[in-house]
Amino acid sequence: MSFIKDPCGIVCILVTYFAILYADYVVTQWIIVYSMQNSIWGPVNVVLFNTVIFFLTIAHLKAVFCDPGLVPIARLDFSDLHAARNKPMSDEEWTVCTRCETYRPPRAHHCRICKRCVKKMDHHCPWINNCVGERNQKYFLQFLVYVCILSIYSVSLVIISWIYPCIGDTCSTDLSETQSRMLHSVLLLLESSLFGLFVVAIMIDQLHAIFYDETPIEALQFRSGYRMANHKFILLANVFGHMHPAYWLFPCSDAKTYDTPLISHDV
Ligand SMILES: [Zn+2]
Ligand SMILES: [Zn+2]
Repeated sequence: MSFIKDPCGIVCILVTYFAILYADYVVTQWIIVYSMQNSIWGPVNVVLFNTVIFFLTIAHLKAVFCDPGLVPIARLDFSDLHAARNKPMSDEEWTVCTRCETYRPPRAHHCRICKRCVKKMDHHCPWINNCVGERNQKYFLQFLVYVCILSIYSVSLVIISWIYPCIGDTCSTDLSETQSRMLHSVLLLLESSLFGLFVVAIMIDQLHAIFYDETPIEALQFRSGYRMANHKFILLANVFGHMHPAYWLFPCSDAKTYDTPLISHDV
């Protein structure tokens, strides 16, 4: 179990739970109580809505507190660290992280916020204040699915309450209550649309990463041709010397004026 002390992540978690509690408050107090008070649909919707919230919370807490796949800290003999860093690497090779000096398996990447290397790291998500990696991606995806369900459910309830303002026999005619109800309904609609669309976008990204077996970090590196260019640059630097490329054609001594970029999976 791990918890990252990142202020941005902690704020995002608080915002998440505030948003969930607010949705629950509006649905039960302003939609179900007013629109479905004397109907069987009232308790049915309360139970169903809170069941979705229950599963959402469990998935979220697991994504927050689960180890995302931290690479155990195993500091070996790093006397030849510099040579290892400059060596072109294949995708199947274990590498040494230049930041936490951990000997890590292929596809592990370093997270600057967690300050650790994470196996098959997808990205660091402030909404779970944790990395999304090999071991918690399942919970993260479940969380996204439940947020999506909750958003669709909330929007549906708001629309139903507008179309059928009084399911059952009682219906409030108090003006201030009607106005409050309208205000909360609109706020819930905005909240649900915002979170719903946001979550769908992340979900599409996640499914793409799963289907193509490629994390966004790897996709970025390969698509930009960064690694390929870096490999070639280093091979040339090995011949011409570790100086600025502008000096490569000058027949001068190997005075180090330029730091060769390193091949790294780090983000
Ligand atoms: Zn690292
Ligand atoms: Zn992280």
